Amino acid sequence: MLQISQHLLPVDHTDTDLRRSVLTLLNIRDEHLLSLTVKQRAIDARRGRAQFSLTLLVEVTNEPAVLKHLAKTPRVSPAPDETYRQLPERSETFGASAKNGPPAEQAAGLPPTYPSSPVEQAAGLPPPSRPLIIGSGPCGLFCALLLARAGRKPILLERGKPAGDRARDVTGFWRRGWAFNPESNVQFGEGGAGTFSDGKLYTQIRDREHRIPWLLKEMVIAGAPEDILVKAKPHIGTDRLIKVVRHIREEIIALGGEVRFETRVDRLLIDAGKCRGVILHDGSTIESNQTILAVGHSSRDTFTALHAQGVPFEPKPFSVGVRIEHPQTLVDRIRYGKNAGHPRLGSAPYKFVAHCGTGRAAYSFCMCPGGLVVAAASEPGTVVTNGMSSYARAEANANSGFMVDVGPADFSATHENPLGGIDFQRTLEQRAFELGGGNYHAPAQLLGDFLHARPSTGPGNVKPSYEPGVHWTDLREILPEIVSDTLAEAIGKVNLALPGFDLEDAIMTGVETRSSSPIRIPRDPETLACITLPGLYPAGEGAGYAGGIISAAADGMRIAERLLKVGQSS
Ligand SMILES: Cc1cc2nc3c(=O)[nH]c(=O)nc-3n(C[C@H](O)[C@H](O)[C@H](O)COP(=O)(O)OP(=O)(O)OC[C@H]3O[C@@H](n4cnc5c(N)ncnc54)[C@H](O)[C@@H]3O)c2cc1C
Repeated sequence: MLQISQHLLPVDHTDTDLRRSVLTLLNIRDEHLLSLTVKQRAIDARRGRAQFSLTLLVEVTNEPAVLKHLAKTPRVSPAPDETYRQLPERSETFGASAKNGPPAEQAAGLPPTYPSSPVEQAAGLPPPSRPLIIGSGPCGLFCALLLARAGRKPILLERGKPAGDRARDVTGFWRRGWAFNPESNVQFGEGGAGTFSDGKLYTQIRDREHRIPWLLKEMVIAGAPEDILVKAKPHIGTDRLIKVVRHIREEIIALGGEVRFETRVDRLLIDAGKCRGVILHDGSTIESNQTILAVGHSSRDTFTALHAQGVPFEPKPFSVGVRIEHPQTLVDRIRYGKNAGHPRLGSAPYKFVAHCGTGRAAYSFCMCPGGLVVAAASEPGTVVTNGMSSYARAEANANSGFMVDVGPADFSATHENPLGGIDFQRTLEQRAFELGGGNYHAPAQLLGDFLHARPSTGPGNVKPSYEPGVHWTDLREILPEIVSDTLAEAIGKVNLALPGFDLEDAIMTGVETRSSSPIRIPRDPETLACITLPGLYPAGEGAGYAGGIISAAADGMRIAERLLKVGQSS
């Protein structure tokens, strides 16, 4: 099998055009091209026009001759093997008796146990019990799926509600005046923070183990659109993501796992310097010597409790800013020129970084073409913005986080107070709540007014999408000066790359504070356990090991692989 990369074709190309172009490139006749598959489709929108850049897999009758002929064409090479091999078939790790537990345990109705690995024996840990996973975001969910498939019957604990009930709470709060629910919102509930999102499924992490192609295939099996396997920048959308999350939950349960909703972990069970399980909000305990902490970046009460219990935390830089909204038609024109609106291209995304004289960079974050700005707080009396879209990306506006990096020096986090970043986020979110009018409306400002440092009094030609509503004001009253100054300076620079971005009527809605986790829980690179608390496995975005749906899911897989004693940590 050969792989051809960066194969450029016009947006309107036909299958015949594609086949002909490959025959020409490979210099072979039609009968020698045995198969032709599009492996990946990217949109190349440089130079103001859009075309497709394809990665192709082809089978030809005489591969060595073709490769020899094309020796000087680096775009053509043998296709790489991208099979995910970290997880052996169940029979390789556990025999039939291990699957159901030793006979004595089965008779006693006890959960199955498994032999300790040499690493666990060295750490003085008993044989592993059923793994406990705290949090059903992408990290916890995929960790649980792998463990369930290996017969480990994981117990998944989730503070929020199942996806359907959660969706009712969230949309009730946005659209029907329902009270804000601190346990069921855009951050908390089945599927985690990504359930109400654009569902972008790409990441910049290295993937030597090929977890990502495996993850995408699993999502398609669970109900995601098939085009996520081909698009270079796949996205699934909130509407389809909820179905996928439910499907994975059902599989975990069918394999003997448990998923307990509205079950908040308040503290860890710690004994003799080891994590032995969890203490739930109702005071009950669940014991396990494998507890995976996949609570996301917004579980502030959990972080505070664990910090008090001696779990080590380190402060980490993150970003703060606002959501900025433009008409999608404008973004399409800026990015795709005369191809704007072409049905094969869909709504155009953008991405930018602008290095400013303030010594900081402003950048676009989690851009949502054809999407909505959403209320994403997890604590009462706060306003947090983020973005989401459905699979169709058909809303009138494009939005993105317009962010500036902040570090421990900005929020006085120290070794003694590693949670200082959380206090910093919370202060901004509370100020946004107050400036928004104290009713969960978000403070908003027109870009033109922000640049002229004057408050806004109402919208221009762009309608804000944020629900329950916005309050027109001056965002400089909330944002740290360095952030406001960097955003203001960045606009001119961004406009050079995206002419028209400086639209006076573009809407800025504040504040966006949850771009990534403000903390990291250090873990041993070999065992992946917390460095000072064996038996606890910090994972995913909240622990500082991921920054999006796919990287969080991949980290969950990595933990599961480690617990199953296969694969190398990476
Ligand atoms: C609105 C929005 C849009 C986003 N869009 C995208 C996007 O398009 N693409 C992308 O890659 N990323 C996106 N993200 C980020 C992405 O969702 C996160 O990076 C990802 O979900 C992190 O996964 P996780 O499993 O580590 O944590 P989370 O998804 O945050 O899951 C943590 C889970 O743990 C539960 N939990 C927390 N504390 C406890 C406790 N004490 N007891 C029991 N359960 C607990 C929570 O309820 C939650 O369900 C978006 C995020 C938001 C909020």
